[in-house]
Amino acid sequence: MTTNGDRRAEVEAGLARVRERVEAGCAAAGRSPSEICLVVVTKTHPASDVVLLADLGVTDVGENRDQEASGKHAECVGAGVTGLRWHFIGQLQTNKARSVARYADVVHSVDRPHLVAALSKAAHQAGREVECLVQVSLDGDTSRGGCLLDDLEEVASGVVAADALVLRGVMAVAPLGVDPYRAFAVLPSLRDRLLTLDPRAGLVSAGMSGDLEAAIACGATHLRVGSAVLGARPPLG
Ligand SMILES: *Cc1c(COP(=O)(O)O)cnc(C)c1O
Repeated sequence: MTTNGDRRAEVEAGLARVRERVEAGCAAAGRSPSEICLVVVTKTHPASDVVLLADLGVTDVGENRDQEASGKHAECVGAGVTGLRWHFIGQLQTNKARSVARYADVVHSVDRPHLVAALSKAAHQAGREVECLVQVSLDGDTSRGGCLLDDLEEVASGVVAADALVLRGVMAVAPLGVDPYRAFAVLPSLRDRLLTLDPRAGLVSAGMSGDLEAAIACGATHLRVGSAVLGARPPLG
């Protein structure tokens, strides 16, 4: 059993290590760390960790399951933590869109026209504007989420047409067993395709604990990092 003080020191050290990696990755890529937003992925970790992160200066957190995220968001607001930006990064069923649109500032996993329609309606009903990234499947295996590269404009133009949604960019996960530098190399061209649809669509969400340097080298603006900051996740029950 760790005490609160131990946990704070652990999370602070994890954050410092990741920030050092981001700085080194930016130096190697000739980029500035100010171009990078670190989204700390808090899935499976308690709301108390989110409160800690906010206190340590983290501004953006990511969650991948609606039920967990909505409860944690409410707990954080109850604890007075209201300034965080919440990123929804997991595969999203249309029947969860209503809930997600109530607390998510950014949805990274928009990957099909049906979901665009559901999110648009939900954001409108919630009286909120939700920023959307179109998730692409870099290896064409859409069962793990993401649209085919050929379908990027179809999904993205639906977001552009929806008045409660804003197209902000592209999101990808490196396929298993592939060199992430190779997999992510296509990202700048995808970003450029989206920028022709909306000048605000230049964000690139890529890079996790294991491949954040490759993502930085390939133009990522948003890293989604969980275990390197918070430690190993307990196995899903
Ligand atoms: C869990 C998750 C992450 C973070 O993974 P780590 O390896 O813990 O950094 C990033 N992106 C998505 C989509 C995730 O589900």
